[in-house]
Amino acid sequence: MVRDTNDNSSVAYFSMEIGLDEGINTYSGGLGVLAGDTISSAADFKVPMAAVTLLYRKGHFRQEIGADGWQREEAADWPVEEHLEEMDERTAVEVEGRRVHLRAWKRDVTGIDGFVVPVYFIDSDLPENSHWDRTLTHYLYGGDDHYRLSQEVILGIGGVRILRELGYDEIKSFHMNEGHAALLTLEILDETARAAGRREITEEDRKAVQEKCVFTTHTPVPAGHDKFSIDLARKVIGDRDDFFGLEGILYQGEVLNMTYLGLKMSRYINGVAKKHGEVSRLIFAGYCIDAITNGVHVGRWVSAPFAELFDRHIPMWRRDNFSLRYALSIPHGEVSSAHMEAKRRLLGYVREEAGVEMEEEVLTIGFARRATPYKRGDLIFRDADRLARISQEAGEVQLIFAGKAHPRDLGGKELIRRIFQAKESLRDDIKIAYLEDYSMTLGGMITSGVDLWLNTPEPPMEASGTSGMKAALNGVPSFSVLDGWWVEGHIEGLTGWSIGDPVRGRGEGRDNSRDAASLYKKLEGVIIPLFYQDKERFTDVMIHSIAINGSFFNTQRMMQEYVLNAYYLR
Ligand SMILES: *Cc1c(COP(=O)(O)O)cnc(C)c1O
Repeated sequence: MVRDTNDNSSVAYFSMEIGLDEGINTYSGGLGVLAGDTISSAADFKVPMAAVTLLYRKGHFRQEIGADGWQREEAADWPVEEHLEEMDERTAVEVEGRRVHLRAWKRDVTGIDGFVVPVYFIDSDLPENSHWDRTLTHYLYGGDDHYRLSQEVILGIGGVRILRELGYDEIKSFHMNEGHAALLTLEILDETARAAGRREITEEDRKAVQEKCVFTTHTPVPAGHDKFSIDLARKVIGDRDDFFGLEGILYQGEVLNMTYLGLKMSRYINGVAKKHGEVSRLIFAGYCIDAITNGVHVGRWVSAPFAELFDRHIPMWRRDNFSLRYALSIPHGEVSSAHMEAKRRLLGYVREEAGVEMEEEVLTIGFARRATPYKRGDLIFRDADRLARISQEAGEVQLIFAGKAHPRDLGGKELIRRIFQAKESLRDDIKIAYLEDYSMTLGGMITSGVDLWLNTPEPPMEASGTSGMKAALNGVPSFSVLDGWWVEGHIEGLTGWSIGDPVRGRGEGRDNSRDAASLYKKLEGVIIPLFYQDKERFTDVMIHSIAINGSFFNTQRMMQEYVLNAYYLR
């Protein structure tokens, strides 16, 4: 199952975005950060894997927020040559009948024992391509459907071809991390037919390809599923009657739906939390959909003060994440002081970057994630007067926000503006900061430096969520709607607190006033009193967050599940 060398009988992991480190600006949010954590754990765990993504020379945008609370985007080129190594191998794909030449750049991800998982970034910016084709790998989630589908041809078909050029001939499992990569199935269909000496693909080929493919779906939000018109698909992919003739596989009606393509062509399919598995089985009736709950990579998300603390008390924690269970034996005082160190670092950043002078002793609540309406980042301001009264009477709170909205997500931009307006109108009552340009470094600082992690998605829209897991690893309990991973991680009063009705299923969806009322009631009646009047018990909750949730919601446990249930490595 686990090998000492990368012997080329690998897993090929395909993802539209991969977040490896701050300097490599090829990720926008959760999907990319998860991909980076997954690859790091594969390297730690010696899973023979190679990963493929696109280069995005122009990066994901840098965020600035005007005094009016409106987000502006700035280009964010990054020095590719400083971070990645160019490969000599070349390949090409057909896009709209044109030949687009491709190269790959490599970054090695090294695990704790020196095992390496290479990540290949595909680049179409070559002089032999037309000006337009050179831009196809410039922007992450930029452009229209036509641009996006062209990118997906490069990722899926180009990705398989470049791996073959690089010598990966015995890939056992192709893992599609979300539907963007699903066109890779067409390339392996072609390979299978060619190997049998045919040009046309058959139903047997489809079955053979299905045996090699693994598909992970990441969102229950319909807009999150990539769809293209059949006309566009024929234009961009080419008029392959044999593909389009496989009724119901490449398309349904007039739509090429990348999620359905992934579902139909995979032998193993999973959602990213138990509840997301259930929801996915309802959305995609008739498919056998398992669930592997996401995690985070402990080495990447444990802050320096906690890493030092774990090194002293649980020396094996990086190698054996389950051993974080023994956080239970770390003295309370040491946990509190490690947390205070992480908190000081965050409050120092808030002072410098946002000019807000926050206080170390005050209950600090964090909320940072992509700004989009279903995440309801402004729920805590629904009754701003009540929030101000709670802070005055029950005990003071201060709030730290961060998050980018997709440039075309006007609802997300509105949400940021509403948080800004609340910040202004509450300026005499509560200290609030909105930190610009959310990134992995900032994510690490916020998830470890606040006292309470707030999460308010509209159920069942949060497939998993991972930032609460980062918080848990650092002894920061969650205060969250019971959705995504929190359904599994929540033990009331022991690992954190729930918002809203714990009876799930019925009545899900948007009930902002009920959820806000529940939030205020518990904040006022339970959390604030515990924080200010029973430090010992609050620290108990912090310790259980690490011991129960940090030890489980990590990518080491997640990777073990993929190896056992999805990859079938032998
Ligand atoms: C962890 C992380 C995310 C994902 O957070 P969710 O809670 O899954 O929404 C997004 N962006 C950055 C920069 C992160 O570090």
